[in-house]
Amino acid sequence: MSDTSYLWQPPAVVSLPVAGSEARYPVSRIFCVGRNYQAHAIEMGMKGVDKSTSRPFYFTKTPSALVESGATIPYPPGTADFHYEMELVVAIGAAGFRVAESEAQRLIFGYAAGLDLTRRDLQAVARESGRPWDLSKNFENAAVCTSVVPAGELGVLDSGAITLAVNGTTRQSGDLSQLIWNIRELIADLSQFYHLQPGDLMYTGTPEGVGALKPGDRITGHIDRVGDIALTIGEPD
Ligand code: MN
Repeated sequence: MSDTSYLWQPPAVVSLPVAGSEARYPVSRIFCVGRNYQAHAIEMGMKGVDKSTSRPFYFTKTPSALVESGATIPYPPGTADFHYEMELVVAIGAAGFRVAESEAQRLIFGYAAGLDLTRRDLQAVARESGRPWDLSKNFENAAVCTSVVPAGELGVLDSGAITLAVNGTTRQSGDLSQLIWNIRELIADLSQFYHLQPGDLMYTGTPEGVGALKPGDRITGHIDRVGDIALTIGEPD
């Protein structure tokens, strides 16, 4: 331990369980990809994404927004349209900068299932006024995540069902093969802008079927070969 004196206790390191290990995955940064499934881009009011003329775009969440699967979270303040978004999460385990698609696999430690929780009404205001998305995307408990499954034999996930149900009724049902930018492309692209580091998480976007939540709702989600996520929405605090 250093002898540094702080005014108050610094925040604890945020981390996730690792499947099959006692060691935990310490989280550094949380990157999220916007509009990475065509049908979701369309349900958000876009014409769709023309990959030949556009690049992925990103927003971030602070690690303090992370909550583990299985939690009950309060219905968040400042919204009347609180949405779920089920997403594959890529957990980076090696450093990389300006990585070629052919090298991208080297950076992947593993995968998790995540929820990119969103205050959709605040996102609409931000979009219309050209303001940042922070209030709509980066708030307490807004990034839900399961244990990290080491990539191992999974390699680079190119397909697999991704589904979400609210109170037992299926609301999202897609496949990872529908990603507009796949995992290799996302790692290569994001690493043009950041020196990716072990501990960086990347939420890869959500399929269509997003919708509103209310207190008492129970979310369950599944990604083939990755895992199952659960979350309960409590009363507003
Ligand atoms: Mn999302």
